[in-house]
Amino acid sequence: MSLEIESDVPLLALNTFGIDASAWSLVRVRSARDVRQVVDHPQWGRAPKFILGGGSNVLFTGDIRDALVVKMEVQGLRVLEDDAHSTLIEVGAGEPWHGVVTWTLAQGFAGLENLALIPGTAGAAPVQNIGAYGLELSDRLESVDLVDFVTGRSATLPAAHCRFGYRDSIFKRELAGKSAITSIRLRLPKPWAPVAGYADVARWLQREGVDEPSPQAIFDAVCAIRRSKLPDPAQWGNAGSFFKNPVVNRTIRNEILEEHPDIVSYPLDDGTYKLAAAWMIAACGWKGQHLGKAGVHEQQPLVLVNRGGASGAEIMALAHAIQDSVRRKFGLSLETEPVLV
Ligand SMILES: Cc1cc2nc3c(=O)[nH]c(=O)nc-3n(C[C@H](O)[C@H](O)[C@H](O)COP(=O)(O)OP(=O)(O)OC[C@H]3O[C@@H](n4cnc5c(N)ncnc54)[C@H](O)[C@@H]3O)c2cc1C
Repeated sequence: MSLEIESDVPLLALNTFGIDASAWSLVRVRSARDVRQVVDHPQWGRAPKFILGGGSNVLFTGDIRDALVVKMEVQGLRVLEDDAHSTLIEVGAGEPWHGVVTWTLAQGFAGLENLALIPGTAGAAPVQNIGAYGLELSDRLESVDLVDFVTGRSATLPAAHCRFGYRDSIFKRELAGKSAITSIRLRLPKPWAPVAGYADVARWLQREGVDEPSPQAIFDAVCAIRRSKLPDPAQWGNAGSFFKNPVVNRTIRNEILEEHPDIVSYPLDDGTYKLAAAWMIAACGWKGQHLGKAGVHEQQPLVLVNRGGASGAEIMALAHAIQDSVRRKFGLSLETEPVLV
């Protein structure tokens, strides 16, 4: 069956920020074969392409005119291996991520529960190496299948070649716009061990009187914490954290600490420190503030919200104002997390 290229598609319902933009041309792909057909397409094969998953980590700054939007809708969830040491699962790139977490738990396969309630699709999860509450996708990813946008060839990339970092991977860098992830494989190790050291999770479990948490208890803790702290995009358009936490060496961290002894920082395994961007934004007085229709969330200042009808440019004006304040007060540049399109 040949692919349908749709024209002038409204993107309002296809991005969690609730930005009213449109795609001049959009194609829905439901298999790796569909992606290959896009690459072979006489008109669109050579055009720049933008892959859209759940639209929960993008900020549209205008209509998408020059690129073909490739809406990822590859479905499928299956167990490839299950033995005494681990379970290997294959997931279509268009599957909703939270659905993957709940499906594995329902099958009795634990290991993804810390990543519950993260919006978006499974195929986008490796792009920024999603992470939350002490776990990152790279802790569970085995490999990804992708289709090259130039050659149309399929390939499998092992996790070790994905150059994962903090909210970073090869798909945000060398491979950005060059290939489509069509499925991912996740390896869930056995025996399961809880990842319960994260302060919020530990506090929730203690309050609920849970001494030996089950996968379901961690899942419940993460869902409850997220629901209490993060704005629901259905109510307040947002893309989760708008800024990454800056990572600095010990010297810089100590210099900042001298002037700002209360700053929140976390030591990392490589001797560097992650500084809490939310703390810095709050210290600059931005918590709960707004510039026109773009606002800073009251409970979580890392999250910028659409207060209703904001354009991408209005969100960016607020982001720039925050970046300027943080640069002036702390001498640090805050990097944005969502992809600006
Ligand atoms: C309320 C809220 C909470 C969030 N919490 C977290 C959190 O705790 N941790 C976290 O890490 N993130 C979080 N996010 C961000 C977001 O959910 C994740 O980054 C998610 O993985 C994005 O998935 P998506 O399908 O919506 O991607 P999109 O927003 O559609 O795309 C994001 C980027 O990935 C690319 N892409 C998408 N699919 C593919 C594919 N199949 N192949 C190649 N490239 C692709 C796109 O081109 C784009 O560059 C949150 C977002 C919201 C709105």
